[in-house]
Amino acid sequence: MSKSKKLVKEITSRDEDFAQWYTDIVKKAELADYSSVKGCMIIRPYAYAMWESIQSYLDKKFKETGHQNVYMPMFIPESLLQKEKDHVEGFAPEVAWVTHSGDEELTEKLCVRPTSETLFCEHYAKIVQSYKDLPKLYNQWCSVVRCEKTTRPFLRTTEFLWQEGHTIHETKEEAENETKRMLNTYADLCENVLAIPVLKGRKTEKEKFAGGEATYTIEALMHDGKALQAGTSHFLGQNFAKSFGMQYSDKEGKLQYVYQTSWGVTTRLIGAIIMVHGDDNGLVVPPRIAPIQVIIVPVAQHKDGVLEKANELKDRIAKIARVKLDDSDKMPGWKFSEYEMKGVPIRLEVGPRDIENNQVVLARRDTGDKITVSMDDLETKIPELLDDIHNNMFEKAKKNVEEKTHTAVNMDEFKDIVENKTGFVKAMWCGDRECEDKIREETGATSRCMPFEQEEVSDTCVCCGKKAKKLVYWGRAY
Ligand SMILES: [Zn+2]
Repeated sequence: MSKSKKLVKEITSRDEDFAQWYTDIVKKAELADYSSVKGCMIIRPYAYAMWESIQSYLDKKFKETGHQNVYMPMFIPESLLQKEKDHVEGFAPEVAWVTHSGDEELTEKLCVRPTSETLFCEHYAKIVQSYKDLPKLYNQWCSVVRCEKTTRPFLRTTEFLWQEGHTIHETKEEAENETKRMLNTYADLCENVLAIPVLKGRKTEKEKFAGGEATYTIEALMHDGKALQAGTSHFLGQNFAKSFGMQYSDKEGKLQYVYQTSWGVTTRLIGAIIMVHGDDNGLVVPPRIAPIQVIIVPVAQHKDGVLEKANELKDRIAKIARVKLDDSDKMPGWKFSEYEMKGVPIRLEVGPRDIENNQVVLARRDTGDKITVSMDDLETKIPELLDDIHNNMFEKAKKNVEEKTHTAVNMDEFKDIVENKTGFVKAMWCGDRECEDKIREETGATSRCMPFEQEEVSDTCVCCGKKAKKLVYWGRAY
């Protein structure tokens, strides 16, 4: 380990300067590059492959639960965006406008979609007439544009990739169930695929989606103790239905408004992967989305039979895992640190002596441990090891959340936690917006969510001392 540390000393230490460490990893692990368009990034192949893994996992889950993919235009006419008042107010400050077509000024300007509720509503209003047409369970994979003043690769960029699910239902109960079902799908993705533990809960009125009735969220905690909203699912009630005339005739022939949901996750999940799992040697990629799960590094590859054996192993491993053989002329030490930087879960070393002994060395990225295994056992050892790495990464991340979750019963404690300990602050809240605003002003922490699993850590609001209504998780956030 100490040897490889020296080889990658050019990245900033995580504990010294977390922000710089993050930027270093994005660059050195070849995840993203800055573009000439301010606030936009180039997602490089290694990160894009992770996004594709996330996509294929979710897409399968969506389809298993009856959803269909569609594609909507990327432009929204101004009049359409303005149909739902709260929605347009919420998004207006971030919207990019198209005003010209060639040299000619448009009679109506078009916004580049910041989200597509309005387009889905317009379409649904046209295609749904009867209860027999319901539910409609649509999803779209696309990019959206939200103008941001300060940007950071993956976490906040002007254009980002995401999926947006939009569904309409006959009953409130059905729509509410859909909202929670999709939140659980996101939580499963984070925990079972990305090895990121999440907290599930509901957003306060202040933090909810513009135009919706309730927003549910999964919140993750990064290594530096800052929170990151990892996915949201909105119950929109009938607000949009009424603005857009989304009506159907029920079994008795009476006109009713539909109930609606929308939900999404974005490429910021890649930012979460970096900040939850990365270390001073670089990225640590969760095995289940790793573009390369096993990297084979031949040792003394110029010697007879080494490359031949390495190729033979590659072909065998390819049947059970995503594997790459690096037979370039670079030195093995260089290769070690390169794939360490890229966070490849398992490095397989094979040299002349290993071949003689019918064995290989497997080094795991998460702990740095090395084991020697018989070549005959690779088909069982590698999947086991990948699962073990996943579990260890999840447990490590969970421990970080536990260590950085603190309880406050008054503002002094609250401030002390935010300033000196960092992490989630569990504190009771009276439900008033004024207290929420005051907490933000005085501490910089925002309400992350009201967890589904409520506890009572005191009787009174942490801010005003009045009777408390809800336990809220607070924190500084990305
Ligand atoms: Zn209060």
